[in-house]
Amino acid sequence: MYQLNEKIAGLAAYAPVDNAGCVRLDANESFLAVPREVRALWKAAVDETEFHRYPDPAAEGLCRAFAGYYGVDPAHVTAGNGSDELISVIFQAFLCKGEAFATLEPDFSMYTQAGALAEARHVAIQKQRPGCAVDIDQVIETCRRERVGLLIFSNPCNPTSLVLGREDVRRLVGSVEGLVALDEAYMDFSSQSLLGEEGAFDNLIILRTCSKAVGMAALRLGFAVAGERLTGRLRAAKSPYNVNSLSQVMGQRMLEQPRLLQAALKRILDSRRELLAGLGEIAREMPGWFSLLPGETNFAALVMEDGQGVQQELLRRGVAVRYTGGLLRVTCGLPEENQAFLRAFQNIGRGWI
Ligand SMILES: *Cc1c(COP(=O)(O)O)cnc(C)c1O
Repeated sequence: MYQLNEKIAGLAAYAPVDNAGCVRLDANESFLAVPREVRALWKAAVDETEFHRYPDPAAEGLCRAFAGYYGVDPAHVTAGNGSDELISVIFQAFLCKGEAFATLEPDFSMYTQAGALAEARHVAIQKQRPGCAVDIDQVIETCRRERVGLLIFSNPCNPTSLVLGREDVRRLVGSVEGLVALDEAYMDFSSQSLLGEEGAFDNLIILRTCSKAVGMAALRLGFAVAGERLTGRLRAAKSPYNVNSLSQVMGQRMLEQPRLLQAALKRILDSRRELLAGLGEIAREMPGWFSLLPGETNFAALVMEDGQGVQQELLRRGVAVRYTGGLLRVTCGLPEENQAFLRAFQNIGRGWI
């Protein structure tokens, strides 16, 4: 029989929550459909696309639109087939076999997977319990001691929802020897972005995605933002036609609509306020059952004893949320979706069938 190598033999495929027929609060997507105006532009884009030609390898129009919306230099932007792809490229390109990468656990599971495929050595730095705080000095010290070639973490963090302040992140990037991949997948919901400062560090790559606040998870669009030297290396390492022509033009059309994007963001932030307020009421009714981390994302992160059991019980009641990293993670949804979750969650807490 063909012998699988060790790194692939033990790898498990990413398993999303089986949420068929459920209220879907498990994947941190946007609950808002793409606006009608943009859909009309997309239909025209299908007609204009030259499907018999390869896409633009530089995704120039798309990168320009991203740079325009976020106020960065287009020369610092590389587009990817979701930030997942860019994470893989970073591991493949910037780490050598056996070299160390560090994560701040719990964090996004893709980092560990990409590290395993790159045959890199994983240094898992644990966040403090129960509050999931990050000790910056400890991270710096560990990175030095372990000769970490890549430090990768999400800020705000999935799944803790917590955000590190800019000053802390700057200090981190400035103090470690290796590359820092700063995954700002949720930074639209917070205010501590380092976008615009990428040129000031020679070891910083910022990752952004269109899968969360921008509401286009289906298109698979992510971006790496870095100074020109690192951007040149990313562009050299990625596969040339990584972002298909249709995703390029569709993403561009969406990112050219700041007014619509800001309106959608406001609705998501309203939903978060509602969800957190509802959870706050339940916490007062049932003190000690769970605690809510003070996050700045499009989801709530709950510390609780039997998070896994509660996740299963919610699923049985038709509400899909995720249990990951020891936390119950609930994406904010439409008002009626939030209400459905809050009702089911409260009933579980009260021991009601
Ligand atoms: C959702 C998410 C992403 C986005 O991945 P895409 O491949 O762009 O959809 C990246 N990082 C984190 C931490 C996430 O939660």
